[in-house]
Amino acid sequence: MKNNQNQKLIYLDYAASTPVDAEVVSAMAPYWTEEFGNPGSLHFMGQEARRVVDDAREKIKKFVNADSLRNIIFTGSATEADNMAVYGAARGFTNSHRLVMPHIITTAIEHEAVLESCRDLEKNGLARVTYLKAGKDGIVDVADLENALSPETALVSIMYANNEIGAIQPIAEIAEIIHQWKKFSGIVSDWPLIHTDAVQAAGFLNMDARKLGVDLLTISGHKIYGPKGVGALYVRDGINIYPWLRGGGQEYGMRAGTEPVPLIVGLGRAVELAEQWKSSADNIKNMLKSRDHLLDKLLTIPGVALNGSRERRLPNNINVALTNRDFDTIMIGLSQAGVCVSSGSACAARGQKPSHVILALGCDEKRARSSLRVTLGKYTTEKELDDFYKILQNMLK
Ligand code: PLP
Repeated sequence: MKNNQNQKLIYLDYAASTPVDAEVVSAMAPYWTEEFGNPGSLHFMGQEARRVVDDAREKIKKFVNADSLRNIIFTGSATEADNMAVYGAARGFTNSHRLVMPHIITTAIEHEAVLESCRDLEKNGLARVTYLKAGKDGIVDVADLENALSPETALVSIMYANNEIGAIQPIAEIAEIIHQWKKFSGIVSDWPLIHTDAVQAAGFLNMDARKLGVDLLTISGHKIYGPKGVGALYVRDGINIYPWLRGGGQEYGMRAGTEPVPLIVGLGRAVELAEQWKSSADNIKNMLKSRDHLLDKLLTIPGVALNGSRERRLPNNINVALTNRDFDTIMIGLSQAGVCVSSGSACAARGQKPSHVILALGCDEKRARSSLRVTLGKYTTEKELDDFYKILQNMLK
């Protein structure tokens, strides 16, 4: 790919978005123009559309080890799936606990899709929210979670891996603590529900929702070489979240709206390919090796410091503070040199705000405004990483 100055691009922003795999594009192709039926129609074209939607649902079911097809609800994005989990749990809890204000526990480093949903409920007096802090390593202290749990807790929403610093939370351990706490407190209902935003984790980590012990889990197409505009929410059997969209009753009555058949087919193929890729130990090992090689070189530059834990982070993620530098000039310079990296998340960058994630690690605003995220993808080459390092090094000189 080239930019408008006809330079070859170095794309190192795979946490923001990934290209759609060629195999995903060809799986989707027939469903734009030839097989364009509505899955709700009874005729044979509708039946074919229904078949491929459920075929994709089966693939996601396998990916997250769900019990049944009903556990997979397709959405228009991971943002939507996160909103559905937060609002759906709060309202579901309210309906079964009249006069009790639902309590939500989340973290200060969540993606805005979870944070803004929680803040909105809080602002409107519809929920009380506890925002757990993360340590310098980006990991939540499970003791803080234990202290925050109460019989009014409707939802615990903690992301699997962070989108800015790649910090991996101990979700299975967190879920176990909640299950034990419930047992100890004599709570026999499904509340609190446990949600994890697994958008960034899906391409690298184990996604078995049952082993993780979660009730709700979010994924997104465009972070795993699938299309934009499609996500899914895993909803464990028997739990009671309030339906998100009303209308024609699609998605088991949880999210009405005609299913975007090509996008759903694309997501189905993308999760199969993601599973194949991450189950090869060599792929993860090679990515880690390339990532660490670049990181070690970056850390030799004076004033460069790593944000978050080195060990408990996604294999594709580097996030470094470039302190005592004119950060904006560096970002503009990198872009002019054809390098695509990011300062924090794509959403925060749009708002020009300091990164709420870096701030939540206890860093100052200066550091939160001068942190660079470099994320590798399965197509990243050693040469790209070397070229990027040389360009940055020259700039910092
Ligand atoms: N959650 C996390 C952790 C993300 O990284 C993102 C995207 O950056 C989202 C949610 C939102 O995903 P989508 O773009 O599908 O709405």
